[in-house]
Amino acid sequence: MSDLRVDVLAIGTLAKNRFWNETGNVRDEVATCTLVRSGQTTLVVDPGWPDAVLRAVLFYRTGLKPEDVTDVFLTHLDPAHVGGVETFPKARWLAFAEEIAYGKAELKGDKTMAAVLKRLKPAPDSIAPGVDIFPTAGHSPGHCSLMVNTPTETTFVAGDALLTRDYLEHGDLGPTLWDRNKAAESFAEVLQIGDFVIPGHDNIVWLRSQGDLL
Ligand SMILES: [Zn+2]
Repeated sequence: MSDLRVDVLAIGTLAKNRFWNETGNVRDEVATCTLVRSGQTTLVVDPGWPDAVLRAVLFYRTGLKPEDVTDVFLTHLDPAHVGGVETFPKARWLAFAEEIAYGKAELKGDKTMAAVLKRLKPAPDSIAPGVDIFPTAGHSPGHCSLMVNTPTETTFVAGDALLTRDYLEHGDLGPTLWDRNKAAESFAEVLQIGDFVIPGHDNIVWLRSQGDLL
């Protein structure tokens, strides 16, 4: 039996959700934070929540503490996905090499992001058994999902390749895109390959009936 396991730690939300008839920002934007475990690897994806929340959800949802986390993976360099990364000072911090290059070129004026960029390492193609990076450019140049494969199912931790269940069901790529065509390709690939998807700002979604969106 596979020892792979994916747990949503904290469900994210958008500052403004057009499918909730919101035209301006009405709340803080924060990403869905996910824990992926495989063998000796305990990996947090997109720790965008404040430190106290991350500590609480990690313990309440899994019984673990920040020092148990071996790796952090950032799908992209947006504060809503990065904000609480300092909760895991002992972990290896990873992102797709292209996103790190983009950050170093475009985001180093931001003090917080510059400090994160100093520690970020390019993620290997396979982070742990069954846990592979899956580039999903479009939202940002080096946006990257994680593809988690057990013998029976494929789960994407998709970051902002898919924003929420509503955006997914409407085939909406979201309002802020670096490259719309690439985002559309990434969206389609995730839907074609995945059995489950964890959107960037929502709970896990079963993709069985989503094929007719393509
Ligand atoms: Zn986001």
